[in-house]
Amino acid sequence: MSTTSDTAPSGWGYAGFRCGRCGAEHTATTEDEYHTAVDVHGDAHAVWDGLNSIERSGLISILRTILSAPDLGVELLALADRQHLAGGDSR
Ligand SMILES: [Zn+2]
Repeated sequence: MSTTSDTAPSGWGYAGFRCGRCGAEHTATTEDEYHTAVDVHGDAHAVWDGLNSIERSGLISILRTILSAPDLGVELLALADRQHLAGGDSR
């Protein structure tokens, strides 16, 4: 039988990660969680680096809205798809 353990694997315990670029700190209780945190943080830097200051403030504004109401994000995407279909710009 295979059960997923909800306790940290032995030999791991607790690990902290501190970003050398922005000083953000993450703590992880599993090795997977640690690698995910490092990967996601690296991705965030990559996205951030690709934006100018106007785009950054726009993105942050959007994220605050969406993350405070995830259903709204889903609904906005659905709305965009319907608008796209209704628009019929090239046929
Ligand atoms: Zn960082």
